[in-house]
Amino acid sequence: MEIILAKTAGFCFGVKRAVDQVYEQLKQKKPIYTYGPIIHNEEVVKDLIDKGVAIIETEEELAALRNGVVIIRSHGVPERIITLLKENGLEYIDMTCPFVKRIHEIVSRESVHSHIVIIGNPGHPEVEGIRGWSKTPAAVIATKEEACLYDPEEYQCQNGVIPDKTGQNHPVEQSGKKSSPICIVSQTTFNYNKFQELIEIFMKKGYDINIMNTICDATRKRQAEAREIASDADIMIVVGDTQSSNSRKLYEICRQECTRTYFVQTSRDLELKVDDTVRKIGITAGASTPNNIIEEVQNYVRSIF
Ligand code: SF4
Repeated sequence: MEIILAKTAGFCFGVKRAVDQVYEQLKQKKPIYTYGPIIHNEEVVKDLIDKGVAIIETEEELAALRNGVVIIRSHGVPERIITLLKENGLEYIDMTCPFVKRIHEIVSRESVHSHIVIIGNPGHPEVEGIRGWSKTPAAVIATKEEACLYDPEEYQCQNGVIPDKTGQNHPVEQSGKKSSPICIVSQTTFNYNKFQELIEIFMKKGYDINIMNTICDATRKRQAEAREIASDADIMIVVGDTQSSNSRKLYEICRQECTRTYFVQTSRDLELKVDDTVRKIGITAGASTPNNIIEEVQNYVRSIF
């Protein structure tokens, strides 16, 4: 019996940097807040709450805050949140991952003369953050159908407002973007193969497009390694929080290669049914899964043989 633990399993650079910063700030003896949970991992978030960190869930709560240190997580935030923090004179530490920050800069710059398309999951905090740096409404595309239906005309100025797919109308100062090019960026954790499929659809439509592959290399390597291990494993285990988008994507990838793929948050969720046909078990974990949880799962798997 062989147990293979992915080399790329666990905290990525951006997540580690943000989580370490929160623990560091706790030494300051000031009220510490994170804008949203620092990562999508219940165990880590609970530990931080136990140590005194409070989570700000809404923009209204943030607007009402008068003191303390606000830490922005690796997913980043819309530009208006940074403006609000500055206007209210609040101390804040921006732990937006540099790879996400780069997308904010691209979107802010390119949206002056291009339509912005974000390949990613609508509603994901990173995507909402990216959207919030666009000077004009940005489209969010996650499926082939949406890519086929995308029409930059929908994002044109109509009588002083631009309608977007959420049904809201955004007042705009600028109009006449009919012949504007399209700048496409990606959520950092988007599946690379799916991104390529969607890009091909845009290319066939003959638009003037500027493609920025902003998928994080850490994600690409993690997904490629997970696929390789799962393709040769009898059982595959993905360790991650159900709220973690990159962990869910890892599960999808592994499930395509290995039908006996388990998705667990901790070793407590794991009920392995192992018979004589099982000779190889693979383990991988999302970017927000701490090492101690991965070790627990690994130890549990070893304990049943
Ligand atoms: S997955 Fe990549 S982009 Fe996202 S936080 Fe980690 S290092 Fe940064």
